[in-house]
Parts: sequence; C-alpha cells; structure tokens
Amino acid sequence: MTPQPDEPSCDERVRPWLDELGLPGLVDIHTHFLPQRVLDKVWAYFDAAGTHYGMDWPVHYRYDESTRLRVLGELGVTAFAPLVYPHKPGMAGWLTDWAVEFGRRTPGAVPTATMYPEPDVADYLAGALDAGARCVKVHIQVGGFDPRDPLLDKAWGMLAESAVPVVVHCGHGPLPGEHTGLDVFAEVLRRHPRLVAVLAHAGMPEYDVALRLAERYPRVHLDTTMVGADFTERFAPLPPDWSSRLVGLADRVVLGSDFPNIPYPYAEQLAAIAGWAAADDRLGRDFLRSVLHDAPARLLGL
Ligand SMILES: [Zn+2]
Repeated sequence: MTPQPDEPSCDERVRPWLDELGLPGLVDIHTHFLPQRVLDKVWAYFDAAGTHYGMDWPVHYRYDESTRLRVLGELGVTAFAPLVYPHKPGMAGWLTDWAVEFGRRTPGAVPTATMYPEPDVADYLAGALDAGARCVKVHIQVGGFDPRDPLLDKAWGMLAESAVPVVVHCGHGPLPGEHTGLDVFAEVLRRHPRLVAVLAHAGMPEYDVALRLAERYPRVHLDTTMVGADFTERFAPLPPDWSSRLVGLADRVVLGSDFPNIPYPYAEQLAAIAGWAAADDRLGRDFLRSVLHDAPARLLGL
C-alpha cells in the first residue's frame, strides 16, 4: 500500500498534496455564496459571534466574490455547491433564483436551491429542479422551522423522487434551534426514506446518531463541514471510534467546508480528514479519493 502523503499544513500545500494523492481536484458540496448584501449580514452576525456563540468567529476568507472564487481555484476546488438559505418567509424563492443563476454563470459552481415552509415552496423548488439545480440546502437552525411542517411534505417528496441531494443542517451545533435535533429530521427520513440527504456537519454534535441514520438509510450521506477541525473539537469533539465507524460508510462521506465563513484556513479541514484516513488502515488513500472527489462528484452529478 502506498503510504499516505503528509497532510497539508497550510493552504499553499494543498495543491501539491492533491498531486501526491493523484487527485484531479476537490469537490466541495458545502460552500456559501450569497448576494453581497445578504453575505454582509451573515458576516456581521459572525462579527458578533461572542454574543451568539460565546466564542470569536473571525471569517477567514472575507474577500470580494471574485477573490473568493480565485482562492477556491487556487486550493484546487474544481467543483462546488454554493449554498443559500433563508431566515424568514418570502426569501427562499428569490434566493433560489439567485443561486440557480449564480451556479449557471460561475465556472465550477453548480446551480442550487433552498426551501422554507410556505405555500409556494413546491413551485419554486420544481422551477429550480427544472432549471438544473443539482443540490438543495435546508437550514433548520437559521430558518427556525420544523422540517416536518406539512407545507414541506410535497417538496421533500419531489427531492426523494428526483434524487437531487439535500444538504440538511439539522444538528444542534454550533447552536441549537427550536427544531434542531437529528431525531426530528429522522421523522422526515422515515416518511421519505429515499431522500438523498446529506447531514451537514455530520450531524454535529450528535455524530453517533448521524452515523446510525447513515447505517440505516442507504441514501443518507455525511458532510465533513467543520468536523474534526481544532476549532470544532473544542465544543463538539468526535467520538474516539470515529474512523472505524466510517469504514462501512466510506462512499457516503463527502467533502464540505463552509468556505468562506470558516474561522481557520481551508487546509485545516483537509488535514482533519487526512487524519481520519490515516487512523484506520481500511480507510487510507481510497477513502481520501472518495471523500474529496469521487463521492461528492457523484452526488452533484458531475
Ligand atoms: Zn454551512
């Protein structure tokens, strides 16, 4: 077995590391791009993270849009899902229009959509799927809604039918919400077991419940977003048997980063994943290839 190359110590080391792994690039299923005025509000929220989260959250890639896109390219990210999400009614439709258009005009990006429990959700979601949306984001903590809301039932059904992946932030971390909790989302899965659901942040901090959902539902995936980074380990540490638990699910773990809104360099996420791969002989390079490229590429239909 070829030994795994040393994990990247900084962003400049990511491209050489990918070359050593023989990977054509990274496919990141969990990044955020938003209309600038919305992004400014998100950044203002992170600026006040001390109040919201009880810890500082300095956004590492706080650049204008073209610089952020250039940085992704320099990191070797060849494809990514730019995700959007609403925090109130009447917002998901126009955000989805924006995300579909952004995904179409931006090299490397795929068109995406989002949803909120409101009377026209099935209409704008159907429109986005027709227009080529390849990934959908649902943010239950920021949205403050119940994913079991009957207004969403048709939309979940459409997603299950279309097999378009839906990245669902349903865990209690980093902040709990009124309707967060993997037990709540498990009820959606029970009703729509064919959903290609990607549990954002691997269900943080309920990693064990997320693993069990993935073991039970063959179309449930876990994204790596912020998981295992030093920053995250301080408040939501991984279980000691994490690497061995991934062995049976290796093709359903997908790279996600939360770029650009992370409080550390992108390389730290990759180093964490490399650490899991190195910790169990049954993972290794094959696992890295799958997580960083093949599995997310397959999900996004690339
Ligand atoms: Zn995110």
